Amino acid sequence: MVPAVDGGTRIFSTGSEARPFTVFPLKCAVQHYAWGKVGPESEVAKLISSNDPSVDIEQEKPYAELWMGAHPKGDAIICDNRISQKTLGSWISKHPDCLGSQVKDVFQGQLPFLFKVLSVNISLSIQAHPNKELAVQLHAQFPDRYPDKNHKPEMAIALTPFEGLCGFRPVEEIIGFLKNVPEFHAVIGNEAAELLENSSSDPRQISDALKKCFTVMMTCEKKTFVDQLNMLVKRVLEEAAGKDMAGSNGELLLRLHSQFPGDVGCFVIYFLNLVKLQPGESMFLGANEPHAYLHGDCIECMACSDNTVRAGLTPKFIDVQTLCGMLNYTPAPASEKIFPFIPDPSDPCVFLYDPPVPDFTVIKIEVPSSVKRYTISSIDSASILLVIRGEASATAAHPSQINIRRGSVLFMAANASVDLCINSLDGMLLFRACCML
Ligand SMILES: [Zn+2]
Repeated sequence: MVPAVDGGTRIFSTGSEARPFTVFPLKCAVQHYAWGKVGPESEVAKLISSNDPSVDIEQEKPYAELWMGAHPKGDAIICDNRISQKTLGSWISKHPDCLGSQVKDVFQGQLPFLFKVLSVNISLSIQAHPNKELAVQLHAQFPDRYPDKNHKPEMAIALTPFEGLCGFRPVEEIIGFLKNVPEFHAVIGNEAAELLENSSSDPRQISDALKKCFTVMMTCEKKTFVDQLNMLVKRVLEEAAGKDMAGSNGELLLRLHSQFPGDVGCFVIYFLNLVKLQPGESMFLGANEPHAYLHGDCIECMACSDNTVRAGLTPKFIDVQTLCGMLNYTPAPASEKIFPFIPDPSDPCVFLYDPPVPDFTVIKIEVPSSVKRYTISSIDSASILLVIRGEASATAAHPSQINIRRGSVLFMAANASVDLCINSLDGMLLFRACCML
């Protein structure tokens, strides 16, 4: 007997005991970090309760992340008790060919990415991730702090209007804040500020000046920046009544200060771009790019690693020397931080978010309401599929049907395809993570 583990969902089978299953539903791990959106406000909670109405969403509990992958701290559960392995990680180690011929070899039999949904209520720490070379070095030197040898490129795709900090602002903007925000100027000091103000158009000179200013701030005595920050917050509050706070980035400052009072990260907003994404827009966080997620819901895909160097908005350890030494000090406007997606010339429903790293690609599949039958094509990579909108009955290679709906998560082995017979009136929206080498 096959139990209806997944909210009444039926299960795929290849129809043969000897051959491995190729497509099956997953029950994914929820992380209840304190920064997450609470109860039914959270997109994570909405997705899991849509997929399985029997799930009880707790009104006061944060639902921060949904982990769709095989990470040991949140290995997805396979919803088919005909499969002897209970989790995706154990299934992949038994069937490494499911990863795809190249992926299996290049990533030593591991799923190279972790796919997530994030619901951010309170800002996450300002951070950057090392490149592979630095990751190896940091792991050798400080294995407790940097737990693996891998890089950690990340991509965030907005599901709801989403805000984050990303990359250094154009120099003119930073100089503007040095003029308009005397407390920020005081933390940077005259010498470093003049270096930036007097820098020529030579990119090298600008990067050096930015690095100097940022390092002075990060190494500033705590009492100095706390005093300056308190003065700034007081002044902005006094000026707030009826005045435009843009010159001091006042709205964001007050919001972050209420979440992290006395944190140096509150000054980091004068260095980094505030990036606002509309649903479907994305940011790619490559090596050494300073960033922080501030608010909203997104899909995230990343290489499998836990290597994070923090810069503020956190009670956790900040490795100032590593951080200031590694960052990408290339200034650029916020608009350049929005990562473009590419339409697939062979399929008008498919859009690729293909970052310049081998570890992952995210595919958006948007099927219009006029299309009732659609095939999710096979590729030579294992993939994970998340339904954001719509309902369908789906059929894999050997006929056996499964009903998928908003919140459903499917694992697809390499070279498996899925035929959808779409039941919803407003089409479907799905995201698929895979590895295109
Ligand atoms: Zn990050």
